[in-house]
Amino acid sequence: MKLRDRISKTIEILKRNSANFKSPVVTEIAGRTKDPFKVLISCLLSLRTKDAVTWKASERLFKIADTPEKISALSLEEIERAIYPVGFYRTKAKRIKEISKILKEKYNSRVPNDFNELLKLKGVGRKTANIVMVYGFGKEGLPIDTHCHRIPNRLGWIKTKKPEDTEKALRKLIPKKYWFEFNDLFVQFGQNICKPLKPMCNICPIKGYCDYYKRN
Ligand code: SF4
Repeated sequence: MKLRDRISKTIEILKRNSANFKSPVVTEIAGRTKDPFKVLISCLLSLRTKDAVTWKASERLFKIADTPEKISALSLEEIERAIYPVGFYRTKAKRIKEISKILKEKYNSRVPNDFNELLKLKGVGRKTANIVMVYGFGKEGLPIDTHCHRIPNRLGWIKTKKPEDTEKALRKLIPKKYWFEFNDLFVQFGQNICKPLKPMCNICPIKGYCDYYKRN
């Protein structure tokens, strides 16, 4: 089977199985709010933090301030208190305040609908910018986190060392019709089945298409 056909087949199987899993927190927030600013902030909060913690921290923060103007008017301590205990909450509070201020002053309190402009914001890397483009604006993008990097390598689609290389390689391989759901599907699958240390290959619905499974 050609690689592109194998990729399509694998993604279709994951789609059929996705109802068994909860969506990642940022997708949930995007679906409920349709607000690129909330997508951006919750994505920043989610880095190195469990989804349940991110969810509650986002709720607490958005309850007291949910726009660039309102968040930039908060003190650092107020932001820290709202988002604690997300990982690196002090650094994140500082970034969130800085970004809110820049959005207010430079972008008329709006999140720029442009990948390269997003990358200019301190603390926003390719993954976050892609998430905002896909889930905030409904545009094309391939957000690559640790799951989206690890699993395609295990499956044998690519051989890459860094997420940036994975993004480049997958942009050429994954049919565009799957880009919107790719991150969601692979994060769910990585959190529940194809875990980093002990992948649950015995119950995996795509083991028939996996190089790692064939080797082990
Ligand atoms: S067979 Fe194992 S390694 Fe391969 S995708 Fe499934 S869980 Fe991951």
